[in-house]
Amino acid sequence: MAWDALTDEQRELRDLVRALTRDRIAPRAAEIDASHEFPWDVVELFREHELFGLLYDEEHGGTGTGTLLALVAIEEVAKVCATSALILAVQELGSLGLKLAGSEEQQQRYLPRLASGEWLCAYALTEAGSGSDSAAMRTTARRDGDEYVLNGSKRFITNAAVANLYTVFAKTDPEAGHAGISAFLVESDAPGFVVARLEPKMGISGSTTGELTFDDCRVPAESLLGEEGEGFKIAMRILDRSRPGVAAQGLGLAQGATDYALEYARARETFGKPIAEHQLIQAKLADMETACQAARGLLYDFGRMVDAGIEGPELTKASAMAKLHCTDTAMWVTTEAVQILGGYGYIKEYPLERMMRDAKITQIYEGTNEIQRLVIAREMLRESRAFLLAGVA
Ligand SMILES: Cc1cc2nc3c(=O)[nH]c(=O)nc-3n(C[C@H](O)[C@H](O)[C@H](O)COP(=O)(O)OP(=O)(O)OC[C@H]3O[C@@H](n4cnc5c(N)ncnc54)[C@H](O)[C@@H]3O)c2cc1C
Repeated sequence: MAWDALTDEQRELRDLVRALTRDRIAPRAAEIDASHEFPWDVVELFREHELFGLLYDEEHGGTGTGTLLALVAIEEVAKVCATSALILAVQELGSLGLKLAGSEEQQQRYLPRLASGEWLCAYALTEAGSGSDSAAMRTTARRDGDEYVLNGSKRFITNAAVANLYTVFAKTDPEAGHAGISAFLVESDAPGFVVARLEPKMGISGSTTGELTFDDCRVPAESLLGEEGEGFKIAMRILDRSRPGVAAQGLGLAQGATDYALEYARARETFGKPIAEHQLIQAKLADMETACQAARGLLYDFGRMVDAGIEGPELTKASAMAKLHCTDTAMWVTTEAVQILGGYGYIKEYPLERMMRDAKITQIYEGTNEIQRLVIAREMLRESRAFLLAGVA
């Protein structure tokens, strides 16, 4: 048996998720992609088997099993269905604001419902005119007595129309740049809040991606997360911890595509032998497997860092490196896997064209991979390595 870096307990839980995924989600994946419908049956499955709980502490109704195991679960689900894996990753993305900056009262009100999966959540930062440059946002929030009044819109929000709770970023002081942004918890039935439309997409077709509008949307003053002006800091702390969820989705796609291509290469014959015996195919398989394992090293290291309580620039860099490498690997490996299947890779009877389409988004959302490179380089430029060069002529 292959060497496995997980503990016995982690392995046991991973194997449970793996079995559930193979039995119940794999047979649904093509249908979810073709129907473009949000898979409520998968949400129900996650609820029944308490998989949402993997994202939360015991005191809030979760399993308290930590970040590494949550990432492993997302990876396992993404091996067969990236849309289903995203349900877990976005539950984490949408609740991290509460976990990191929520008051005791806010946490008690929402986290148990999110941990059971009774409620789904979302993270609303991007706007039509502000994606990578999120501080250019135009949505505003004005204090009015015991309420805040939100006006503006958000674009490309995952879980739009299925989430019960949205973490929304808006400017409480439009003149103050980053420092003028605040974060709010907005329930889906808040007056003035509407999901204006859903976007048709290239991949992750069962996931909803929508535009939210806030038209004099009134929320209680207690909906503010943290303090006024802390929103940008909160948004970035959330992304540091959530991006590896996308990395896990990418890694799952890459490993799932590698596994599928390997089995196909064993069975498909050309020139009188299985294509797996042609050295050019072997080279592809070897490079794909190596890329997956290298990506896994970065991702699991990140999980262990969070579980060890590490914070700050070191975590930011590790998060960006895991996101960058796992998702670039997803795009490259799924493309190679399609190539191994030849014409069959391109048609919908086989899952690889779906995996290749699904892989593309992982390089774009939660910070494009260009932005991840900027983050990594920024952290490198803050480090001093002069001592390593001592004595180098
Ligand atoms: C399916 C889907 C789901 C999404 N889900 C969510 C969600 O749940 N919540 C949310 O808030 N957002 C979400 N997004 C938004 C996503 O995070 C943004 O699309 C992404 O951050 C890029 O922003 P943009 O599209 O405005 O591109 P832009 O910022 O306009 O970037 C365009 C191009 O320029 C590059 N670029 C930009 N700035 C620089 C720079 N300084 N140096 C080098 N290159 C640069 C980018 O890498 C990109 O290639 C989602 C998007 C999609 C498509």
